[in-house]
Amino acid sequence: MKIVTISGARPQFIKAGSVSREILRQADSGADIHQVIVHTGQHYDENMSDVFFEEMQIPKPDYFLGIGGKTHGAMTGQMIEKIEEILVQEKPNWVMVYGDTNSTLAGAIAASKLHIKIAHVEAGLRSFNMRMPEEVNRILTDRVSSLLFCPTQAALDNLANEGVEAWSPDANVVLSGDVMQDGAMFYRELAQKPPGLVISEDFVLCTIHRAENTDDPVRLANIVSALNDIAKEKQVVLPLHPRTKSILQASDYDTSNLTITDPVGYLNMVWLIDHCDLVMTDSGGLQKEAFFFEKPCITLRDETEWIELVDNGFNKLAGADKAKIIELYYGAEFNTDFTLSLYGGGLASECIVMELLSGCE
Ligand code: UDP
Repeated sequence: MKIVTISGARPQFIKAGSVSREILRQADSGADIHQVIVHTGQHYDENMSDVFFEEMQIPKPDYFLGIGGKTHGAMTGQMIEKIEEILVQEKPNWVMVYGDTNSTLAGAIAASKLHIKIAHVEAGLRSFNMRMPEEVNRILTDRVSSLLFCPTQAALDNLANEGVEAWSPDANVVLSGDVMQDGAMFYRELAQKPPGLVISEDFVLCTIHRAENTDDPVRLANIVSALNDIAKEKQVVLPLHPRTKSILQASDYDTSNLTITDPVGYLNMVWLIDHCDLVMTDSGGLQKEAFFFEKPCITLRDETEWIELVDNGFNKLAGADKAKIIELYYGAEFNTDFTLSLYGGGLASECIVMELLSGCE
């Protein structure tokens, strides 16, 4: 069996890394499975891409398309064209796509037009906010996928509520668990303190990169102002996404109390999550990682796809409301019983590869 894996953005390297490890493990045990990796170039700089392949033992891409730093349309269109060429040449049995980026959608469109079956890892997630580019990408990708790997029961329910059986009668919907938990468990042992960063014993770990925050000056100003106030009493470490960095550099927001650094590699990030007191983020992946590492999380968004974290009291939604962020930081009570199994317990990659090979029962 030949699989073409499409990845291109930071969270996809992490997700596809876990599945790649399992594919190699099965191939070493004699299974007929072989992977060709395409890196679209959506994230292309040292801190957002190269470091992940180097330190995370992810197989090097077979194809690098170099399509990054463009508008949504230009990026997705150019990716479709290039991926189509590769698929025509490679003739895979499956195309695997991850998550909800433009690379995901481009892979899904290119494969569907060539009638190549698509396996979507992280199927069924919904924010119910169609202004998010990610929401458009995930809905369209789910529609053309034959194997829909849902990380959570909520994702499975979303697909059922949308009538997946009617729009894709032959599709196979599988509750696989979340491959990010596999990665968190694997890399925890390898975590390293970020070199050159002075970090207190108690600190808040924060990331901001969602377009709904970075592209809205009022939301971004509220978030930065809340963080800067909190940082007067506790260190706030902010590994900054390039998009957020360039917007903050062009603004006059007061960030004087924040510990701002370039994006860090995953092994450093895992160390930060493991050692912080609390996570504040608009990232999807980091909300779950907070749970995996038993940390409370305040989410800087109005809604989340990872609703089970909110329903069970591990995560509080603050949006971009300064007063609410500060109120939750000082006053919120979080669930501390992290024994709840919400994401498959680290067996998602095995389930996914077994399903591709034979069925995951
Ligand atoms: N991450 C990282 N270094 C950083 C910031 C984030 O390794 O400086 C990791 C983070 O731990 C998570 C993933 O990148 O595993 C999340 O990516 P991102 O927030 O870009 O995307 P999202 O999950 O929101 O799609």
